[in-house]
Amino acid sequence: MNLLKDYKKKLSYLDLDDFSASQDVIFIINNKFKLIAFNDAWIQFAENNDGKDVFSKFPLGADIRAGFSNEILDFYERFYSTAIKNQKRFEHDFECSSPSKFRLYHQSAYPLRDCSGLIVTNHLLNEDPFENPGEEMSPAYLGENGFITQCCHCRKIKNWKSLNKWDWVPVLVAKPNPLISHTFCPYCLEYYYNIDKTFCS
Ligand SMILES: [Zn+2]
Repeated sequence: MNLLKDYKKKLSYLDLDDFSASQDVIFIINNKFKLIAFNDAWIQFAENNDGKDVFSKFPLGADIRAGFSNEILDFYERFYSTAIKNQKRFEHDFECSSPSKFRLYHQSAYPLRDCSGLIVTNHLLNEDPFENPGEEMSPAYLGENGFITQCCHCRKIKNWKSLNKWDWVPVLVAKPNPLISHTFCPYCLEYYYNIDKTFCS
């Protein structure tokens, strides 16, 4: 386990070797959202999603909130803080697909003792190749302001030519476009980020 030295003694009650060997993506934050530990599966996950320079962006001690888009940040900040404060487990599913594969993860966040932080585990539930190869880039994805609107959760793109249509456009997942603005598509907002349906237990 890659662990901040200061926390070695404090977390000695945990089986860190078990976390280390796990295929689940595991990281630990303190109650200020500072990254204090992560396992090798996290390294692989982070490199696949954020690129090889992930360690310069998120070394141990970094604030993990910098990695969230604004829309998602409010949600996680709220539920992670509640889980830590109330010593309740937080459960949530999220998508993290590659251009060719649909991936769904289940996240469980367990509070550390004394409200000092959170162990966040991410278990891969589904990984399936997309049945449909998706859409090519098209003018239908450019809004009036010249920006492309992408769901920050499922990464589908708003199709401005059809009402409530969101398309899978692999090229925009493979190569993030500087003209992309993020929001939630109505389906993700209702299904994954409906605060009334999300819980700590
Ligand atoms: Zn979505």
